[in-house]
Amino acid sequence: MKIKRRDFLKGAAGGMALLALDGQDAQAMTVQALPPEALGILFDSTLCVGCNACMTACKDANNMQPDFADGQDIWDQPVDLSPNTLNIIKKFTSGTGETKDAEVNGYAFIKRQCLHCVDPSCVTACPVSALLKDKETGIVTYNKNACIGCRYCQVACPYNIPKFDFNHIYPEIVKCQLCDHLIAEGKVSACCSACPTGASLFGKVEDLYVETRRRQQMVPGTIYEYPVTSIDSGLTHSYPAPEYIPHVYGKEELGGTQVMYMSAVGFDNFALPAYPKESFVSMSSGIQYAIYKGMVYPLVVLAGLVFMVKKNKQQEETKTAEKAKDKKEENHE
Ligand code: SF4
Ligand code: SF4
Ligand code: SF4
Repeated sequence: MKIKRRDFLKGAAGGMALLALDGQDAQAMTVQALPPEALGILFDSTLCVGCNACMTACKDANNMQPDFADGQDIWDQPVDLSPNTLNIIKKFTSGTGETKDAEVNGYAFIKRQCLHCVDPSCVTACPVSALLKDKETGIVTYNKNACIGCRYCQVACPYNIPKFDFNHIYPEIVKCQLCDHLIAEGKVSACCSACPTGASLFGKVEDLYVETRRRQQMVPGTIYEYPVTSIDSGLTHSYPAPEYIPHVYGKEELGGTQVMYMSAVGFDNFALPAYPKESFVSMSSGIQYAIYKGMVYPLVVLAGLVFMVKKNKQQEETKTAEKAKDKKEENHE
C-alpha cells in the first residue's frame, strides 16, 4: 500500500506536535489502554493436566500442519511455538518431579501463545500496519496481504511469539489471533472450548480480572466451583483450591496482557520474564522524546521535508489543474 502524501504530511505534522508536548503528554498519546470489551484467556496452571487437547483443537481450528519431533512423522510433537504451532503446553519439572504444582520435586504446566498485549510492541514495530490491535476486542491480528516480511515484529515481541513461515512462496508471520474467526461466529477460542478442566478459560478481560481476585481469596483445600470453557458459560467443575502464588502474570507486566496466568509455582519456572509495569512502547516513546527534545536539527529537517513535499504537491496540483483546463478548452474547440 502506498502512503498518500496527504497522510505523510499529517503524520509529519503530528510528529512536530508531539515534539511540542511535554514528556508525560507525549507518553500518554502513544500508550494504548485496555478496551472495555477486551477479550482474553485466563490460564490456571493448577487446573492443567497436560492433556494437550487445546493444542489439537488449535491446529484443527486454524488449519495448521503437524510438527514432527520424533523423526518418524507419526505424531504431532511440537517442541515449541513454530509456523505450525500457535499454542503449546510446556512442562516444568524439578528434582524427582513427583508432585503437581510443587517447586521442589514437582511439576506444572504452562501454555505458551500470543499474550495479546494491551500495548503491543509488535504493532508499534510493524512499519506497514500488518499487525493491528482491534479497538473493540483488543485482539492483535495479522494481515498477511499487508506484510512486507521485515520481521521487526519478531525482534520487538518481548515474549518471542511471532514465527516466520518460510514454507510458502510468500513467507508470512504466524501467531495466535485468539481464534477471532470463531469469535466472529459467536463461539469462543478453540483451545478454551476443548479444555476439559477449565484451565484455559475464555472471557472478557474485566470478568477474568474478577475471577483472578476470587481465586486469590480462596482458602487452600476448600472446594470451589470453577467455570469451564468461558467465564459466562454456566458450566462449572468443583475442585479444592490450591495455594496460588500472590501474582497474576499479565495483569501488569509491560502494561498488561489479555492472556493471563495463575499458578502455584513461581513464573520464573516457566521462563515468563519478570518485566516492569511500563510497556516497551511507552518506554521507547519516552526515550525518543528525550533525544529529540534537545535537538533542533531533526525539527529543521522535518520542517524542510514538510515544506518540500507540500511545495511539490502544490506544483503537481497546479499542473493537474492546468492540464484539465487545457483538455476542457480542446474539447470546446
Ligand atoms: S505477545 Fe508478542 S506477538 Fe503477541 S501481542 Fe504481545 S508483542 Fe505482539
Ligand atoms: S485462541 Fe485459538 S489460535 Fe490462539 S491458542 Fe487458542 S486455539 Fe490457538
Ligand atoms: S486442554 Fe486444558 S488441561 Fe489440557 S493441556 Fe490444554 S490447558 Fe491443559
